Amino acid sequence: MHSDRITHIDEGNVLRGTVRWSPAKSLWITAMAITSIVGGYLTFSWSNLLLFTGATAFVLLFGHTLGSHRKLIHDSYQCPKWLEYALVYAGVQVGLAGPLGLRLQHDLRDHAQRQPDCHPYLRHGQPLLADGWWQLHCELALAQPPALTLPDAVAHDRFYRFLERTWMLQQLPPALALYAFGGWPFVVWGVCAGITASVTGHWLIGYFAHNHGPMHNEITGAAVQGHNVRLASLITLGESWHNNHHAFPGSARLGLYPGEWDPGWWTLALLRRCGLVWDIIQAHDLPARPERLALDAAVLNAPEAPVQSLRQTLRDCFAMARRPVALQLSSPCATLPAWALRRLAGDNISILATPGQRRMQLQGGGVTLVGLPALAIAMLQSRRTVAASAALVLLPLALAGEAVRGRFA
Ligand SMILES: [Zn+2]
Ligand SMILES: [Zn+2]
Repeated sequence: MHSDRITHIDEGNVLRGTVRWSPAKSLWITAMAITSIVGGYLTFSWSNLLLFTGATAFVLLFGHTLGSHRKLIHDSYQCPKWLEYALVYAGVQVGLAGPLGLRLQHDLRDHAQRQPDCHPYLRHGQPLLADGWWQLHCELALAQPPALTLPDAVAHDRFYRFLERTWMLQQLPPALALYAFGGWPFVVWGVCAGITASVTGHWLIGYFAHNHGPMHNEITGAAVQGHNVRLASLITLGESWHNNHHAFPGSARLGLYPGEWDPGWWTLALLRRCGLVWDIIQAHDLPARPERLALDAAVLNAPEAPVQSLRQTLRDCFAMARRPVALQLSSPCATLPAWALRRLAGDNISILATPGQRRMQLQGGGVTLVGLPALAIAMLQSRRTVAASAALVLLPLALAGEAVRGRFA
């Protein structure tokens, strides 16, 4: 049913191997980086930066996390074939690899990291910069690689085979469209800078997610553990909850514990509501793994917080923003640790860590605000210029998020 299982005929040896410079990989990322830095400097404008941000976020959300990772690699939900192809096609735009190569690389790492030991290349075991050189410019040639096989549905899919042969060229259709609209600056910002940021970011998150950060679970006997990179949850669209992913690889949801923001999951829940996605596999659907050892008392699958109407939320926001009352912000402190909340909310608001509570709450004067609007109002009330200005941007977004939540919950 779920394909976090890896079919392998021969265990091979994941420890002995040579790391070699890979000309294609190295020249690809170097060319993209130089074009982005030089071209980006020469053609900088705020609208180009906005194009870069929007295009990269779109490709990472729909392509990388939903298409390549949660669907193609882990098959953690079902959707119409056209949507799967569209998502995986968007995933190719990340510029990491073709779909088959990407899945094989992922399967190899998963398999290797679960062994008692594996080559440092496969577990990000070198210091940061050395690991960067390896991951971005080199490849690992194992002396006796395990024979990993892809499921037939993926391996024999003609579209995926075509994308595998032509993945670098697949940057051309969006590049041509962007050129038609905005000339070379759009190509530099929309394609080259997007690839540079995504590929570099993918390595950086991979490095931190296997070296630093809190853990809820340990996989006993594994060569390396996954770590949750909390502050990167939004920018990685939920992918940075990597300790959760090592514990429950087949789960479509990555932010599993209270307060763990997972935009990829939010999007998936929205697509399910629209009828475009079904049979979503979650942590509680997966068979128990004896090697998984829970390290803390964090509540898995805590009940969802009740949804308030937008009108009520707006009314509460006004009430809290108007009157100076003693406020208390209680939060699971998962995505934003207590020190970060204190920075944002200032010293006038007391912060309470409540690990089992799904969403943060701001209480005061008999009113309770839930979720991101609570954070925005706390930031507004901090009387700190930067936090209060950021709150003015955050508040409409938070309210829009609540409106979608209310409509689709
Ligand atoms: Zn991992
Ligand atoms: Zn994975």
